[in-house]
Amino acid sequence: MKHFRKELWFEVPTRRAFINITPDVEACLKESKIKNGLLLCNAMHITASVFINDDESGLHHDYEVWLEKLAPHEPVSQYHHNGYEDNADAHMKRQIMGREVVVAVTDGKLDFGTWERIFYGEFDGRRKKRVLVKIIGE
Ligand code: ZN
Repeated sequence: MKHFRKELWFEVPTRRAFINITPDVEACLKESKIKNGLLLCNAMHITASVFINDDESGLHHDYEVWLEKLAPHEPVSQYHHNGYEDNADAHMKRQIMGREVVVAVTDGKLDFGTWERIFYGEFDGRRKKRVLVKIIGE
């Protein structure tokens, strides 16, 4: 069995953003030369997510509105976690949107369902953060 590991780095200039990282992950798969197996992709930070959904800007806007209703950034004083930091809402948004995805690798391709794409969800940006890609198979 082969295995492959790579870290992808992102520095989002805004506090929050959703980025389609499917091309980056597909490049990892190609580099790995693994044709059949499993691919894990996870955020390596507790204020960012990796998730799978549709690459549709209206939906991403709706996520932003929905997440702000569930865990509004302001007022930052409403959270016990905030004090030294102001990112309690980012921890909660990450919890809802998830840490990682696992995708089957079949014949050298990500075996997606219809419209599935991989996204990096940033909730406390403006600094460098990592995403891990681990692939096992043959
Ligand atoms: Zn924090």
